[in-house]
Amino acid sequence: MSFESLWADESAIGRNPDTGGYTRGGWSPTEREATHWFLDQCAARGLTVESDGIGNLIAWWGASDGPGVVTGSHLDSVIDGGAFDGPLGVVSALAAVDQLRAEGFEPGVPIGIGAFVEEEGSRFGMPCLGSRVAAGVLSAEKALQLKDRAGVGLGEALEDAGLDPARVGPSPLLRRMGTFVELHVEQGRGLTAPVGVASSIWPHGRFRFTFGGEANHAGTTLMEDRHDPMLTYAMTALAANKQARLAGARATFGRLSVEPNGTNAVPSQVTAWLDARAADTATLESLLAAIIKQATERAERDGTTLEVTPESVSPVVDFPAGLRDRLVNVLDGAPVLPTGAGHDAGVFSDAGIPTAMLFVRNPTGISHSPAEYAELDDCLAGVDALAAVLKDLAK
Ligand SMILES: [Zn+2]
Repeated sequence: MSFESLWADESAIGRNPDTGGYTRGGWSPTEREATHWFLDQCAARGLTVESDGIGNLIAWWGASDGPGVVTGSHLDSVIDGGAFDGPLGVVSALAAVDQLRAEGFEPGVPIGIGAFVEEEGSRFGMPCLGSRVAAGVLSAEKALQLKDRAGVGLGEALEDAGLDPARVGPSPLLRRMGTFVELHVEQGRGLTAPVGVASSIWPHGRFRFTFGGEANHAGTTLMEDRHDPMLTYAMTALAANKQARLAGARATFGRLSVEPNGTNAVPSQVTAWLDARAADTATLESLLAAIIKQATERAERDGTTLEVTPESVSPVVDFPAGLRDRLVNVLDGAPVLPTGAGHDAGVFSDAGIPTAMLFVRNPTGISHSPAEYAELDDCLAGVDALAAVLKDLAK
């Protein structure tokens, strides 16, 4: 099948007609619909699908059951995300396999197409949840303690999707991942050619800031008598922005929860989640320290409290140079660039699997938004590049 028709099929699944975006949290109805579409595509191609306890999938082309070259990406999304982040890698993998078959290519080792669950962490708050559990970086015990915003535990979500929570744990799928190559839409404006190769992934942390104060009447409480955690939070959000600019890094408060969340009440508590990223770990650590220092000083002035809890911290990932250079050679000197976005490829690379990434140009740099976009010609160049890389790695 052509990339265009596969893309038209896949990108119709779960599109919100009002925003044009997608909300495919892990194991949610729309994410399951996309997953079933993928399984149908694999069945139509006679690929052998293997799965693990948490729902990661690899569909194999090739007779042997030994290790092979795995490509693919994820089908879940952030809340109201774009069409390309994740699905482009899965759809391009199917199209690349179709292209190689049409050429009569016979792989010397099996080629696998992977779809890894809850990469965004938009439902359970843990990015790369499927790959982390598969790689044994996150234990089954810890994973099964996670709850979504509605209070549904991971085990319950898995059961709802027809999966068995007792099977959650390090994945047998990884034994056959000889090499992993993930194709992904670029998520900034760093790539000016149609296709590029990743050098590294910036270190990334998610931190929960809990600002405690004193609930009180918005009309009768004198301004000087208040212990208002919203003020401490507001100054912290400004500080995070300033410190990230000074450090050449990124810091974002994109999620907030207020108690009691009433218009006529001084809040008792504000919980805010900081997403922070930098080119290296030392910069990330000093950025976080600078934000916490300013927040703490402000809390003293406001008579509020502050507690900071790391929810996930991912170290820098440097993809192996040999494999990276091999891809660059196959692609006639494609540009090499780092990314500030996290990926399953980073988890698999850390787990010791030789891993590389291909990026497809994003003309606006917008991502995690319904406006995320890539030109068709660039997507087609991505499929060609992936097919060339698979041909080289699986010969
Ligand atoms: Zn992604």
